[in-house]
Amino acid sequence: MRPASFEYVRPPSTAEACRALADGGTALAGGQSLLPLLKLRAVRPALVVDLNRITELQGIGNGEATELAIGAMTRHQHVADDPVVASAVPLLAEAARRTGDMQVRARGTIGGNVCFADPRANMSTALVALGAVAVVERTAGSRQVPVAEMFSDTRVSALRPGELLTRLHVPLGAGADRGVYLEFAPQPNGVPIVNVAVVPGDGELAGPRIAVGGLLRTTCRATQVEKAVRLEGATSAAIRRGIEGLLADHEGYADPRGDTAYRARLASVLIGRGLERAARGPRTTEREV
Ligand SMILES: Cc1cc2nc3c(=O)[nH]c(=O)nc-3n(C[C@H](O)[C@H](O)[C@H](O)COP(=O)(O)OP(=O)(O)OC[C@H]3O[C@@H](n4cnc5c(N)ncnc54)[C@H](O)[C@@H]3O)c2cc1C
Repeated sequence: MRPASFEYVRPPSTAEACRALADGGTALAGGQSLLPLLKLRAVRPALVVDLNRITELQGIGNGEATELAIGAMTRHQHVADDPVVASAVPLLAEAARRTGDMQVRARGTIGGNVCFADPRANMSTALVALGAVAVVERTAGSRQVPVAEMFSDTRVSALRPGELLTRLHVPLGAGADRGVYLEFAPQPNGVPIVNVAVVPGDGELAGPRIAVGGLLRTTCRATQVEKAVRLEGATSAAIRRGIEGLLADHEGYADPRGDTAYRARLASVLIGRGLERAARGPRTTEREV
């Protein structure tokens, strides 16, 4: 089907994009999720605001020794190929490499991946485990939101009307360079059923940080699992208990590819492997359980 008609603007700056979004516009980044929805007429925006000309939203900077700043319009392939990302936060490079096929990686953006709020999104899971913070701008100012709080529900972001995600700040250190991203995706280049990211603790007091996608209705930090592992060690029983705690507090995700119980089993296995590999240090991936 062809999209319903809409007005189209292609602003050259963040400020002009924010003005167009404040007028009720819908942001267009890589279009990998938005365009299919437009064609199905599942969304019918009156105004589409194309972000592709805004150079200030693109690229990766590490001016600060303590963090990486990644522009919202940075493509997945750019993240996958960036040498600083590869050495400082290899799990993010791995998550990008595992996102879709070459075409999706060439067009899809890290900001679009977060804003689309799909609970199985690769980059969101990696960013949550890394403790990344989103910088969100609007005509009247800006705010910073932990990526873990960017999701209100399945495919519903926590962005308010008129807001534009401009940058993601990824803290370095604290085990970030030893983090692991794992996923179970039956089809190569397909959206995973479940993915996990594990960043090992840095020191005796800080335990590992664990994020899970595809288990709950939103990508989440698995704090109950982290706590169980801190108290009982990284045993299968502790991980399972932590996942049960997560599911007691939040609604599980299910779709035709797997119910919540199946996803819980996958998450349990992947978290166990992630913890083991993060403790060992190698940068490996896992596509099948
Ligand atoms: C065949 C296929 C396979 C895929 N496989 C995977 C996979 O394995 N793993 C995975 O994680 N993803 C996968 N994806 C999704 C893809 O990775 C994109 O990341 C995702 O579609 C959104 O990014 P985008 O840049 O294309 O955003 P768009 O489609 O342009 O936008 C998505 C949504 O976010 C909003 N938005 C975008 N950018 C901003 C911004 N800066 N500020 C405010 N709102 C914004 C838009 O308004 C829209 O609502 C796949 C997609 C396809 C088509």
